[in-house]
Amino acid sequence: MEKIESIPEIFASLVFNEDVMRERLPKDVYKSLLNTIANGKEIDAGIADVVAGAMKDWAIEHGATHFTHWFQPLTGVTAEKHDAFLSPVGGGKVIMEFSGKELIRGEPDASSFPSGGLRATFEARGYTAWDPASYAFIKDGSLYIPTAFCSYGGEALDTKTPLLRSMDAISAAGLRIVRLFGDETTQRVLSTVGAEQEYFLIEEEDYKARRDLFYCGRTLFGAPPVKGQELEDHYFGALPTRVSAFMKELDNELWRLGISAKTKHNEAAPSQHELAPIFCTTNIAVDQNLLMMECMRKLAPKYGMACLLAEKPFEGINGSGKHNNWSLSTDGGKNLFKPGKNPAENKQFLLFLAAVIRAVDEYQDLLRISAATAGNDCRLGGHEAPPAIISVFLGEELEALVNSIVEGSSYSRRDTKYMSLGVPSVPTIRKDNTDRNRTSPFAFTGNKFEFRMVGSSQNVALANIVLNTAVAESLSIFADALEETVDFDRTLDKLIADTFKKHSRILFSGNSYSAEWEAEAAERGLSNFKTAPEAYAHFTDDKNIALFGKFGVMSEAEMRSRREIFFESYRKIKNIEARVMLEMTVRDIIPAVSSYIGELSASVNATRLASKTAYVGCEEDIIVKLSELLGKTYDAYAALARVEKTAISKSSAEDAAFYYKSTVVQKMDALRRAVDEMEMLTARDRWPMPTYGDIIFKI
Ligand code: ADP
Ligand code: MG
Repeated sequence: MEKIESIPEIFASLVFNEDVMRERLPKDVYKSLLNTIANGKEIDAGIADVVAGAMKDWAIEHGATHFTHWFQPLTGVTAEKHDAFLSPVGGGKVIMEFSGKELIRGEPDASSFPSGGLRATFEARGYTAWDPASYAFIKDGSLYIPTAFCSYGGEALDTKTPLLRSMDAISAAGLRIVRLFGDETTQRVLSTVGAEQEYFLIEEEDYKARRDLFYCGRTLFGAPPVKGQELEDHYFGALPTRVSAFMKELDNELWRLGISAKTKHNEAAPSQHELAPIFCTTNIAVDQNLLMMECMRKLAPKYGMACLLAEKPFEGINGSGKHNNWSLSTDGGKNLFKPGKNPAENKQFLLFLAAVIRAVDEYQDLLRISAATAGNDCRLGGHEAPPAIISVFLGEELEALVNSIVEGSSYSRRDTKYMSLGVPSVPTIRKDNTDRNRTSPFAFTGNKFEFRMVGSSQNVALANIVLNTAVAESLSIFADALEETVDFDRTLDKLIADTFKKHSRILFSGNSYSAEWEAEAAERGLSNFKTAPEAYAHFTDDKNIALFGKFGVMSEAEMRSRREIFFESYRKIKNIEARVMLEMTVRDIIPAVSSYIGELSASVNATRLASKTAYVGCEEDIIVKLSELLGKTYDAYAALARVEKTAISKSSAEDAAFYYKSTVVQKMDALRRAVDEMEMLTARDRWPMPTYGDIIFKI
């Protein structure tokens, strides 16, 4: 019988982590490297050759032949270029080699990656630089070295560089605060992230049979199926055999890569699932989330399935998001958002809480931008995901505490609640002190915050860059005040109360999906950017440039380039979608419906020939309706083609993006309505692609 390996045996077996380092590196090199990893200290250049040699030997023992610098350019996906460990030694022979220089620096041709205009003023070359704080790993026969990616002039061209900078910012500011509360041992404050990933699994042949799915990752046409998700029988339902086999292999693959895939279950929509890992330090969590998405996508075809990571693959069916669970802890593992038994007396907790509330209120726009993509526009606000308005949910108990502080009234702690199910054999369960509000975009969940707005296909780096930097700003303002004061306790209480008071408008515990909330939020002056371009426009507002500049997270030039790339990628996505719709309409849909009308007409004629009085009203009715719709479709097609032409003629990406969002999207929608109506009247086997009903209930 095949030996079943245990999780501890295989876990991280393909990762060059601290255990492997300790085992394989000379003591002084190991110590120096660990200092870099744990404390963010600069790498000692002298040790690179030794580390590279050890990495190479380890990788070769595990079957690797190549190495690659692995980076996160601003395309939203990862990039890699593989080199063999090979080096000629004369006489036509080669040896396996890997130098410190190759480990530390790579020089990919940067000209094909988005730079948002940064490169026009600098050289076309780009550099990748080893990020020792993310472990190297082996995948598909290559040693993957996580790296940062920058231009010749040192500007970041990736998502990782600003993320690492933001982690330094939050650490520095967090340390100042914990020192004020008497902590002399902590050396680094860490931001931690656990990203819950939602995804769809469908038949691979259906995926390939629909050009919209294949090219855009989401359907652009599709009448609603006769049965949708209304029975809610899928959520947490039993896993179908094939899905369960896929998940099992996925777990195994992820465990080997050191990714602690933990929870898996069916999600709300048919064919939708979720995978949650155990949280870890932010930069590693981001790497691991990207790897997880890649593994999902690559593994699905082995099981005859396709994995859809797009935010809204099917209209009318719940879309996919990514819950970004975020917290802060000391390097000793103490969670700084743990309220403890008595939060009212836990002033350090309240101060950290105030820092987050202030940060979220002041930088609502940046948080919104971190979740703004063309794909997520189709999901946010659709009564399944948070609206475009950012607010914070604290839960009943904390909210009562915050209110009492704001009002200066006394607060009496609630007793722990227990619930009994009335069945003696079932144990009484202790209730959490944080209840749940699934409609909130930013919820406190016990000892962490859950930012629920991010789209399923997105890199969560930007969301965490914003959180880390904005909270770092709050904490450093607090530290300034507290380090100077002669009356620490009084200043502290006042800081907490003033901050809660000033930013209480961001707190909301009601139903975020409701129309009333939208009206109330407007009254409170909260921002409400319904579409991605409207949000992007604020990325370089003065206060935002000042924030990132102050903490060295992004320069103004880096921000302007990113803003340009946001608009550019929005424009490109919408442009592709419009073109795919146009092509499907004239080359697949109109021919199919037209020939179906022809078929019906032939049948009417044949029947008439047999008998002048035979009843053909049914066919004639369908012919008339379909012909009308065909006309409507063609008009909508022509209208879309026209605006699409105007869209491509726009020279600025920003203008184009706004034009797509306000004009092209409407025409796309009109075309879709006409086509979907035809789908419902056309014989099933004449429709030129699998329908919603075919796709979402098949597996
Ligand atoms: P919930 O049921 O409240 O969503 P879970 O325990 O299922 O909580 O956790 C959801 C996600 O949050 C998981 O990925 C988990 O690892 C992550 N998480 C838990 N604690 C933290 C933390 N301190 N920092 C960041 N993420 C965390
Ligand atoms: Mg959750």
